[in-house]
Amino acid sequence: MAQRKPRQQREEATLAYELHGNLYLNITYHCTLRCGFCPKYQGVWNVQGYDLLLTFEPTTEEVLAAVGDPARYREIVFCGLGEPTLRLDTLLAVSSALRERGARHIRLNTDGLANLVHGRDVTADLAAVLDSVSVSLTAQDAATYNRHTRPKRTDAYPAMLEFLRAARGQGLDVTATAIDGLEGVDIPACERLAERLGVRFRGRVLDAVG
Ligand code: SF4
Repeated sequence: MAQRKPRQQREEATLAYELHGNLYLNITYHCTLRCGFCPKYQGVWNVQGYDLLLTFEPTTEEVLAAVGDPARYREIVFCGLGEPTLRLDTLLAVSSALRERGARHIRLNTDGLANLVHGRDVTADLAAVLDSVSVSLTAQDAATYNRHTRPKRTDAYPAMLEFLRAARGQGLDVTATAIDGLEGVDIPACERLAERLGVRFRGRVLDAVG
């Protein structure tokens, strides 16, 4: 368990940050993956002008206070330099409260490994409080995926594909993403795979939050 920052430093942490009319939520610094292209593995926690370094796990109340009025934003997105579903209870509680407070659209950006990590299908829980999910497909095959994301679990790639299917089955608006330009990543092949899984596809630009 990480050491909690003193109160003043907790208040200085960036738990919510605004980009292109959306509000992004930074609720954890832990990840299931160790992506070679991730800025935090180069010691860089600054994303598009925001310092996303966390050394503590914020509470539901702290995240909600950082949001303020959710109705001001076109979309609220769980997306920081950590995997939001590792804090599933906080994610669900924050999203549910944001819904009650008038959030227009809530999206989760995820590695798609929540079912693997939690040992059960959590997509129904997610569908109850979210509008859409964007899942890092990353690559068209397990070998390329493993090379770039360096998962702690060997069964990550098939688990992520199964998560995509399950999330779609729950009626969520699901988009698979891959970063255009990463070595060995075949964007048209990723797009075809997404199509076979029945989900949308979006090619991403490295280091661009979206
Ligand atoms: S899942 Fe995202 S935050 Fe985590 S290591 Fe990969 S790129 Fe970085």
